[in-house]
Amino acid sequence: MAPSLEASVFDADADKKDRNDSDTRAGRHVITDSPTHPTRSLQFLNSLKGKKESKAVPPRPAQVKLRIIVVGAGLGGLACAIALARRGHEVVVLEQATELGEVGAGIQIPSNSARLLQSWGLGPFLDPYVVEPNGMTFRRWEDGNPIGYTKLVPDFRQNFGAPYYVVHRAHFHMALYKRALELGVDVKVASRVEQYDLDAPSVELQSGEVFSADLIVAADGIKSKARKLLLGGVDNVVKPTGFAAYRATVDVEKMKADPDTAWLLEKPSLNIWIGEDRHVMSYTIAAGKSFNMVLSHVDTSDFTTWKAAGAIDEMRREFVGWDPKLTKVIGMIDSTLKWPLLSASPLKTWIAPSNKVVIMGDAAHAMVPYMSQGAAMAVEDGAALAAVLSLIDTPEHVPSALKVYEMEMMKRSGQMQQASLLNGKLWHFPDGEEQRLRDESMRPEVEGRSFSWSANQWSDPVTQWWAYGYDAEKEVEKSWAGLYGLGKSTSTAGNGLGI
Ligand SMILES: Cc1cc2nc3c(=O)[nH]c(=O)nc-3n(C[C@H](O)[C@H](O)[C@H](O)COP(=O)(O)OP(=O)(O)OC[C@H]3O[C@@H](n4cnc5c(N)ncnc54)[C@H](O)[C@@H]3O)c2cc1C
Repeated sequence: MAPSLEASVFDADADKKDRNDSDTRAGRHVITDSPTHPTRSLQFLNSLKGKKESKAVPPRPAQVKLRIIVVGAGLGGLACAIALARRGHEVVVLEQATELGEVGAGIQIPSNSARLLQSWGLGPFLDPYVVEPNGMTFRRWEDGNPIGYTKLVPDFRQNFGAPYYVVHRAHFHMALYKRALELGVDVKVASRVEQYDLDAPSVELQSGEVFSADLIVAADGIKSKARKLLLGGVDNVVKPTGFAAYRATVDVEKMKADPDTAWLLEKPSLNIWIGEDRHVMSYTIAAGKSFNMVLSHVDTSDFTTWKAAGAIDEMRREFVGWDPKLTKVIGMIDSTLKWPLLSASPLKTWIAPSNKVVIMGDAAHAMVPYMSQGAAMAVEDGAALAAVLSLIDTPEHVPSALKVYEMEMMKRSGQMQQASLLNGKLWHFPDGEEQRLRDESMRPEVEGRSFSWSANQWSDPVTQWWAYGYDAEKEVEKSWAGLYGLGKSTSTAGNGLGI
């Protein structure tokens, strides 16, 4: 039998068929159960199942159709709206801005997020704009020499069933918006939510208009109003981490004109220079028409005092003495803005006591961007919430579904917050013994030798499979099945979750 490595509660019939086919084919050499220990020893059998790349698939529709309000049309809110609408829920998104848009330039869409987005039918809206980098090269701060390397193509498609993309945020946002509209989501701009009634549940806009629903999902970002209410009025203030980043784009025509910088455009790739207290992440976006840079450094000053004027000179000063090829690109930057990098501490809950309002995305788990996974975690939240809500067969079981969503995604995003902070340590060692040993641990990947661990978390085998192999929909389905049995809905009484 082809084992259901990624067993879902809905694979039961398919598995039975596979088992029969394989029984005939393989006779007594049949692996009848999915392994319960962590292993990838059976990964090769996926090809027997024809499992290749993720593509648009019709989802299991929700048995209980809900009216859902999503507050916030950022990347997280729109992703969540798509995940819910494609399962048949009626979704209204309320966004305070008068026009939709995204600030900042590039964003990475790692395979764990790309897999979900592709299966949700984002392909036609996103594919014309994305760049698929061949690999990611870690470079020494001083001379740009490669010290670490992750091969993304074809490895990430082959291993994780989806590409690793980079894209302009505005293009990503527009793709989500268009797919949401196609699914019938009602996106209302100029709709700032001023008040929540957690019990109704309902929201009141600045205009005084009131919207009610069966469930409210607050994807209202790092300064979330909903979070404070859920926590009983005492907010978990998202704290500065002591890191800040300049974000900028560079005109590729300028870069092409200079051999010292043109090489960066020859192949689509991610390049990251790492050194004491600083790093620079770079890649091309807009189908190769723009070069995106995030220049990060340690900065403990009060971000409320930062001014846009002079930011470009400050940025250049931070990288004096770094690789001359890099500083040449930095010299081509015309304008920049400095952003504080914030990270939230774990919250005691993401769910209102009424079980009718939940938070997601940066509202629930802001993180430093050092794993490039903040928006990806918001996509996973939307995926998980929609998947688990599709398993209930009566509205009374919404609280159980929300609890499973919270349990899974709190753990997942909490670990990603930690992984992101860890990169802030690993990348910023001063020259010395720790840095030397770090670079030694990454050398096999640069030299094409095999390795069992790496200080590069994109390459480290354990981290890599955890980060990019994770399937949020399947994970909540497994959790649900573990708690309530296969494909069964449950009553809230005595469900082991204390609700
Ligand atoms: C420098 C940097 C680089 C990054 N790089 C990556 C990367 O490569 N990959 C990645 O996955 N992530 C990355 N991230 C993280 C990512 O940008 C965020 O995690 C993600 O955008 C959060 O999405 P969100 O929808 O949760 O929140 P937001 O984008 O903040 O959206 C919240 C929305 O809610 C609206 N809103 C707020 N309050 C109200 C209200 N009261 N009523 C109505 N609307 C309201 C806001 O206007 C906004 O549109 C990076 C972050 C930074 C700072």
